[in-house]
Amino acid sequence: MILNPIPWPNGARCAVAITFDMDADSLVHIAHGRRAPDLVSATSMLRYGPEIGVPRILETWRRMEITQTFFVPAWCAETYPRAVEAMVAAGHEVALHSYIHEQSFDFSREEEWYWLQRAKAALHRVSGVVPRGWRAPMYSFSRHSAELLVEEGFAYDSSLMGDDIPYLLETPRGRLVELPGHWGSDDYPQYAHTPEVGYSVPVKAPSDAIRNYRDEFEAHYEHGGLWIGVWHPFLTGRLTRWHHIERFLLEIRERNDVWFAPLARIADHVLALERSGAWQPRRHELPFYAEPVSLHGADGPAADRDPPRERRTPDQGEDR
Ligand SMILES: [Zn+2]
Repeated sequence: MILNPIPWPNGARCAVAITFDMDADSLVHIAHGRRAPDLVSATSMLRYGPEIGVPRILETWRRMEITQTFFVPAWCAETYPRAVEAMVAAGHEVALHSYIHEQSFDFSREEEWYWLQRAKAALHRVSGVVPRGWRAPMYSFSRHSAELLVEEGFAYDSSLMGDDIPYLLETPRGRLVELPGHWGSDDYPQYAHTPEVGYSVPVKAPSDAIRNYRDEFEAHYEHGGLWIGVWHPFLTGRLTRWHHIERFLLEIRERNDVWFAPLARIADHVLALERSGAWQPRRHELPFYAEPVSLHGADGPAADRDPPRERRTPDQGEDR
């Protein structure tokens, strides 16, 4: 089913990366601004991520003897440095997930670049490591993102959904490895009942969520894919969910032909294969569209029908 299967190291059948986005309470600040200090219950639920979820997840990774990737907004690293220090001390990868969960596609190119540079420097200060990977909050990758990430020296992105295996993003400034995920393996549609930040899905039982993840994993295992969990310590790190999901992960771990790796290591593997000529990744040239597409071209009457774009910056939170 995968036309150009990628060879995984040591004959592994598939690669798995359970990535955690440690959003913490950046979500209430970016959504509510001045009102956020009054949202105490929502804040407590989100702080559960760095304070309770992350240590619990790290303990499971220790028992499984694997290292994985955590995506962290720089403000969250500054606010919860102990969680980030624990990740680094245990050998995990810390990658960048914005400054305070602002959405890249709300910005002009200059604004996006400013916040990317500022966030990268802040995460470096706290973690001691220059981040090599990026995931845009809520997959808000803009038409400028790929080029800006190349300019800032990033090796990979994990915000897009264009394949089941790694591929390359080509830009006029250079290229990035894309390590694609999908909503099907994201824990928001399973658990995100957080009306304060705009999500009120019916909460699923952990067994239902695991049934979905198991189907996702088995298909990637069968066909040689890269399975990326896009999970959150404040959602999947809760006691009941992690109690059940840990068993599921331990079960996968017992198969000796699954490659668990941090995303940076997977990106390096892709580039090494390409360099040696052992495998050639598919390529996407970005941006897909430099200008809007309309019925009669960008200057035609349909261009007037574009909805007004809402702008939000980290300094100006707004109610959604
Ligand atoms: Zn996030």
